[in-house]
Amino acid sequence: MGLLDEISAETKSRHRPCIVADILDDLPIEDARELQVALDNAAMTHVAITRVLVNRGYPVAPNGKQVANHRNGSCQCRA
Ligand SMILES: [Zn+2]
Repeated sequence: MGLLDEISAETKSRHRPCIVADILDDLPIEDARELQVALDNAAMTHVAITRVLVNRGYPVAPNGKQVANHRNGSCQCRA
């Protein structure tokens, strides 16, 4: 691994833009697609989506705030 690769890997690991973006990256493609559908569907509550993600073992805060921020665009991953 070149020095530049190492530095950019280090930069990436320190910079956690958004847990929801991390999860979308981490999930298998079909699950990620379904999560995106749920995120786009206003009938699905932040807390319901959060609960499912927590059940899958993701470290999402149970108050649903991270999912809410991602949905309303105030998280950093859309900057
Ligand atoms: Zn986000």
